[in-house]
Amino acid sequence: MERPRAGTHYPKALGDFQAWFRTDADCLDYLEWLRWPGGFICPSRGLPGGWRLGDGGYQCTGCGKRTSVMAGTIFDRTRTPLAVWFAACWHFATGKDGIPALSLKRTLETGSYQTVWAMLHRLRSVLIRPGRERLGGRIEVDETYIGGQEPGLSGGRAQGKKVLTGIAAGILEPKGFGRCRMAPLADASAASLHPFAEGHIEPGSTIVTDGWRGYRGLEKKGYLHDRQSQRAATARDEDPGELLPGVHRIASLAKRWPLGTRQGAVDSANPPNYLNEFVFRFNRRHSRSRGMLFHRVLELAVVHGPARYRDLVAARHPKAVPPTPPARRGHPPTLDRPAPDRPWRKISSSG
Ligand SMILES: [Zn+2]
Repeated sequence: MERPRAGTHYPKALGDFQAWFRTDADCLDYLEWLRWPGGFICPSRGLPGGWRLGDGGYQCTGCGKRTSVMAGTIFDRTRTPLAVWFAACWHFATGKDGIPALSLKRTLETGSYQTVWAMLHRLRSVLIRPGRERLGGRIEVDETYIGGQEPGLSGGRAQGKKVLTGIAAGILEPKGFGRCRMAPLADASAASLHPFAEGHIEPGSTIVTDGWRGYRGLEKKGYLHDRQSQRAATARDEDPGELLPGVHRIASLAKRWPLGTRQGAVDSANPPNYLNEFVFRFNRRHSRSRGMLFHRVLELAVVHGPARYRDLVAARHPKAVPPTPPARRGHPPTLDRPAPDRPWRKISSSG
């Protein structure tokens, strides 16, 4: 798909958002476009061809199974109307640092705190794209404690419910930081740090670390290992704290991130979720439009779940015979519905 554009593929600002998504049907239409930009694809076997049913669902012309655009996504089987989900998603995505559940509850003027909290939780859970690529090039790696600052604990060594977190940061030439990855670690041993590196960094990359022994042996896993010794830096009269500027910058941002500390206290059962939200926002910090993040979250939301997009793409092959409509009910989507007056529909109908 072409690069998404503000005002065409996603709303530019709150005014656009409100005009585009007045009803649940508007929202469903948008999700359908995101999930099946080239028309319906059966989630069971990944083949195209199906008929829209009266209730807004689809029936596959191949296997006859019925499904809906929301099946297998975070929107499936929730009582919350889709328009409320969209509003939650808009505020979640466009808030510079995200949005706390209590503020979102006030903004939406609907639902209980628990409902709103659960929505945010589900939105966070889709932020990591299945099968996303690993970082490459020159990558700094370090580990640090991030998370809940508990009242009553004092002093720099009080960890509370903090989570030991691995951080990998891409370093750009001549200067600046690229993308980052974060994940909780069981401990700072090689048995935890090496899988973290292998899970997030392409072999052949250069990994820059401090002298900690948990990083020894990375060169045997296919990496170039640049160990920056603190002692050597001190001997060279350099500041040892500046050996890994990328990961240290990201760690300090994550520690100051308001939702990180709040969620760390509330959400200790599922720590990766708020790390994922931080990484999602950090990696899109140069996005020109906040609406772009809204589009991205929804796009991720419809490819997550039991029927994953990569599985569908892997199984996809062209249909030899054009489908014929079922006798009893349903219509080809093109006959059933005139193209709605929505900019993204004009895009999809041309391609
Ligand atoms: Zn099917």
